[in-house]
Amino acid sequence: MLGRSGSGKGTQAQVLAREFDLEYIGTGDLLRKFSERKNAAAHRMKETMAQGKLAPSWMPFFIWMEKLAYTDVHKGVLFDGSPRMLGEATTLDEVLDWFERKKVKVVLIDISREVARHRLMKRRICSVCKRGAYVENEQEAPQTHCQYCGGDLTIRSEDNPAGIESRLDWFDHEVMKVVEHYRSKGKLIVVNGEQDPEAVHQEIVKALAKRNVFPKQ
Ligand SMILES: [Zn+2]
Repeated sequence: MLGRSGSGKGTQAQVLAREFDLEYIGTGDLLRKFSERKNAAAHRMKETMAQGKLAPSWMPFFIWMEKLAYTDVHKGVLFDGSPRMLGEATTLDEVLDWFERKKVKVVLIDISREVARHRLMKRRICSVCKRGAYVENEQEAPQTHCQYCGGDLTIRSEDNPAGIESRLDWFDHEVMKVVEHYRSKGKLIVVNGEQDPEAVHQEIVKALAKRNVFPKQ
């Protein structure tokens, strides 16, 4: 599942994984968890992350292979936000082919750059319970406290204007190559992400069912 920052792909991926019992693969979280282990590679990974550097391009495969190796071959697998580069995509194609996972589909949750920017500027996180929130009508009545626990809402550190633009640039320059790769192979499903989350979910399920992605219930 791919989409710009702010497309809601993470939420959609988790809902879909739960509903259809898919193995959920969130690469960033898995890399963070991996770096807490006690081995030489994990230690090196922890250093790399502490220096604010990107993980090497083969590192996600190290993590993905382990997930795939321990997942029943009949169970579906959902990659949230990956692959993020064309080289990753072509290697992942080979990996999935080797595992005889044939029904590969790529769902793009499509929102414009303007909508993405607008959503990310309004995004907040609760400093206490870490739940996400959106600040509507900021001028008229700014919402400053979490609706669940009353904690202070703060801007995520990565949601500063420069951080937002650099993530949107990354999507346009790198992830779009992945999108075009799967479009040319006839594996791309484009869903309108500028509607409410439930409608997005229904559109995804309908599109996947039409292509017989899920085993018959
Ligand atoms: Zn809270």
